[in-house]
Amino acid sequence: MLLITCPVTRTDELVADRRVRPVADPRNRPGVVAVVADCPCGGAHVFLTGRRIEQARARLAAADRARRADVAVPA
Ligand SMILES: [Zn+2]
Repeated sequence: MLLITCPVTRTDELVADRRVRPVADPRNRPGVVAVVADCPCGGAHVFLTGRRIEQARARLAAADRARRADVAVPA
């Protein structure tokens, strides 16, 4: 089972293993895990994870924090 948050309904859904299939080949994309989950909402959603994806998300979050820190706050 895989617990996902449906991007359409924003609800948490449990998806059976047989409804989840990999779409990234770890031999070609090391550090990236991508799966497609057939969601109870009727859609198929792609979820990315893995070391490289998490590192990229951390870089974006750090850049976002730095950008917010640069915004002037009215006194
Ligand atoms: Zn869905």
